[in-house]
This record gives sequence, structure tokens and C-alpha cells, in this order.
Amino acid sequence: MTTIPHWIDGSTSASSSGRTAPVTDPATGAETARVALASVAEVDAAVASAAAAFPAWRDTSLARRTAILFRYRELLDRNRLELARLISAEHGKVLADALGEVGRGLEVVEYACGIAEHLKGELSQDVSTGIDVHSVRQPLGVMAGITPFNFPAMVPMWMYPVAIACGNTFVLKPSEKDPSVSMLAAELFTEAGLPDGVLNVVHGDVEAVHRLLDHPDIAGVSFVGSTPIAKAVYERGTAAGKRVQALGGAKNHMLVLPDADIDVAADSAVSAGYGSAGERCMAISVVVAVGDVADRLIPAIQERTAGLAVAPGIPASGDPADSPDMGPLVTEAHRDRVAGFVDLGVGEGADLVIDGRGYTPEDPAAADGFWLGPCLFDHVTADMEIYREEIFGPVLCVVRVDSYADGLAFINANDYGNGTAIFTGDGAAARDFQRNVTAGMVGVNVPIPVPVAFHSFGGWKDSLFGSNHIYGPEGIRFNTAYKAVTTRWPERADSQVSLVFPGND
Ligand code: NAD
Repeated sequence: MTTIPHWIDGSTSASSSGRTAPVTDPATGAETARVALASVAEVDAAVASAAAAFPAWRDTSLARRTAILFRYRELLDRNRLELARLISAEHGKVLADALGEVGRGLEVVEYACGIAEHLKGELSQDVSTGIDVHSVRQPLGVMAGITPFNFPAMVPMWMYPVAIACGNTFVLKPSEKDPSVSMLAAELFTEAGLPDGVLNVVHGDVEAVHRLLDHPDIAGVSFVGSTPIAKAVYERGTAAGKRVQALGGAKNHMLVLPDADIDVAADSAVSAGYGSAGERCMAISVVVAVGDVADRLIPAIQERTAGLAVAPGIPASGDPADSPDMGPLVTEAHRDRVAGFVDLGVGEGADLVIDGRGYTPEDPAAADGFWLGPCLFDHVTADMEIYREEIFGPVLCVVRVDSYADGLAFINANDYGNGTAIFTGDGAAARDFQRNVTAGMVGVNVPIPVPVAFHSFGGWKDSLFGSNHIYGPEGIRFNTAYKAVTTRWPERADSQVSLVFPGND
């Protein structure tokens, strides 16, 4: 069986750690490869490669960096389908959805192609007699990224294109559950002309992550994953003196007011609740239904859910247009955990309106896949564990409240604050909601408000540790250090000693 190697210094690097983890096809349950789990020495080799590449890459002209990024953009575009196939084969999401993921990652590369515009400094002339001040943003050095399983192409692309465009070098530690797409993405960047060592990929688990967080030659770390690990990564990385942005988990609420178009709200709840089998940090997991909304919305959700095709993500034709609606969950352990939450919800007294437990597609090849059909709970309350915990699967909870104000207060009391959405025809309510809700990304009649590449992505509260959101303008701030330069030219002939704090005359 193949062991997926690391990508260090511009080529593959077989692991000698002696440790590997299984990579499975979630649609069949079959183990398809092993992935290397890096030792401390292997992480150190990747960091050494990135550190050695930094001085020359920092000094590479913006024109040349941009040309490489444009070539990379073209290669990614040409290889969209292959990248998407690798995602589906290891993550399980349907091919059309995987293509969408590649597209959103590619948009960040396109944003990075405009880096020359974003790195322009500012100049103030004559701030004092004969004195000018200008400010610049400079790269930090070696940056690292640690990413989750659920967007194995897009989330790494939230990080390394911006970091590298800014003049940093990078070490990526992708999820060990679906590592292959990062290898192809790194190979294509090298093919585009990226110098060896500017982007390295090391596979691994907690041992590799800890080494990255402790390594003295790493200046900053971007992390995306679950909240407990995000918090631990933030604390360990900042204690080691690094700049850290650690994006955590989510429990995203969709508030539906009585005046909302129920068909639109039902389409949105089903798309955002069950897309990618609910394994999205921006998935809707709670519908907060105001007044009589639940009685109208739940039948509409049931009707739509009954029509969903849940089957292996890569269709027999290989054509993304033939994709089913929903694939399997990523691993057997994760499927069992999510199904366990459904059992728990029943025990806690929530009303299980749609039960996806025990679902298996008819295709005999899928018999041992990690399946769970869509599930829907009604009458969920704030004290239930199925409400408090991030389930990260195709399980949608409906909470009933009496008023808009109760709905807003309910959402704001949640510990997470990643995304949220309001569905209404009332502009004043929508305006109040987007001003007062405590979440980092808000949709108004938009169920999955993932910001475009030229804005920035990130949550509030337990969904983000650190002050910078990721990619876009905030990503550039995170990946650069600000410097202000004060210049006097020509030198003044009347120079003299003065111990008084300089004023501006
Ligand atoms: P995870 O936290 O288990 O793993 C994330 C990364 O951390 C992986 O690379 C993993 O190898 C590494 N890791 C695992 N255990 C570790 C440990 N003990 N110490 C240090 N590192 C460790 O997350 P996951 O299951 O891969 O992904 C799903 C989670 O990611 C969900 O909670 C989801 O909400 C979250 N997520 C958040 C966002 C966001 O933008 N906020 C985006 C995508 C996913």
C-alpha cells in the first residue's frame, strides 16, 4: 500500500518516522493509502528548508512573485477536476461540492495575484521641516498552517497563497485524514516556478503540530480546526512568542422570522444543513424559528429532505453534474460520534422528526461506507447537549422562540460566534440583527455567508482565538509586520544636541 510522503524542498520526501495513519475512502470504507506521520526531525527538515528559502524569496521582486502566482492560478484552474476527485475520494463530499471548494480556494490565489497593489505603503511628506514618513509591511519569515479535514484544498489556500505572496515561506501540516490534495497543490506550485523550500508540506498528528508551535524559526501560525484544539494551539504558540490566528468550531444559527418566504428558508436550511453532510464550519446546525414558523418550515424541510440523493460522492460517469446531493461522513469514528448525538438527542427529549440512522445506499460497493442520512430534531432547547456541542454532521436542530428579540438573545448566548443568518422581508429587523448579533460572519437571506476572497473570514467568541481573521486584507495584516520609516534628507547643517522629545516644526 502506498505511503503518502511529505513535500520538502521542492520534491517528495519519504518518511523515516516509522509512524503512519490510514487514509480511507469514506464511500466504501476501504483503506486506500497510508500517510506518513512526521517525526520532530522531519518537521525540522521542512522548517530548515523554508528558513533557507526565505531570504531569497523575500528579495524576489513583486513582479516575479506575481508572475509565479498567475502561473499557479492557471495550473490550478486546469487541474480543478483532478483536485476535486482527490478531495471526494478521501473526504467523501460529492464531486460537484469538491469542485466548488477548489473554486473558492482558487479565488484566494487570484486575490494573492494582486499582491503588489495590497503591499503598497503609505507616504506623508513634510511631517516636519524636511522630514517625510513612510510605512511598509514586511514579511515575517517562516509561517506555518495547520488545517482540518473538512476543506482539504480550500482551507490551506486561505493561508499559504497570501503568506507566500507577502514574501514569507511556508510549512503546511494538512489533516492526516485527507492529505493527497495538498501534495498535488504543492507540486503544481513548484511547476509554476515557486522556488524550492518556499512551500513545504509535512503530514502528521499532534507531534508535528507541537513541534511547529515550539520551533524557534517559525514566526507565525494559522490554525483551523475544532475549538478545544484551536485554544490549545493559540496558547502554546503565543507562549512560544509567535503570532497565532486559530479558527475554531461553530454552531451556526439561522433565524427565521414569520414574514420570511418559507420556501426560500426551507431550501436554505436543507442546503446549508446537509451540504457536505454537515461537515462545514459554516453549516447551519440550528434553525431558530420565531412564532409559528416551525409548523410551516418543518414540513417544507421534510419534503425537500425526502428527495435528497445520498450516495458515493464520485458518480460512475465521473461527471460532476451527475453528483448526488450528499456523500458519507469522513471516517467511521466520526459517523459513529454523530449517530451517537442523534441517540443522545432522543434521550434528552428532543423530537426526532427525520431519522437518518442506519441509512446505507443501495450500491453494494458502498455497504461498508460511513453513512448517515439527514436527521432533523424539533423542540430542541438550550440545555440539551445536542444544542451545546458541535455535532459536525447532517443533524439539524429546530429551536422555537416567541419573538425576534428572544431569537437574537438566544443566538448571542451561544459560546460560538462563527456564522449566522437571518431570513426575513423586514429590512429594519435585518439591520438590527446584523448590527447586534455576536458572530463574525452574517447572512441576510444568505445561508452560508462565507466572505469572498477580498474580504476576510473569521468568527467571534470561541470560534476564533487571535485578533486577525484569515485571508483578504486581514490575512495580509497577519502575514506582515508594519514598519514606519522617518526620513530627513538632506542632512541639516544646523544639527545640534537636544535631549528634548522631538516636536514637529
Ligand atoms: P481537528 O481540530 O481535529 O484537527 C485540526 C488539525 O489539528 C488537524 O491538522 C489535526 O491533525 C490537528 N490536531 C489533531 N489533534 C491535535 C492535537 N491534540 N493538538 C494539536 N493539533 C491536533 O479538526 P477536524 O476534525 O480536522 O476539523 C473539523 C473542525 O474544524 C470542526 O470543529 C470545524 O468547525 C472546524 N473548522 C473550522 C473552520 C473555521 O473557519 N472556523 C473551518 C473549517 C473547519
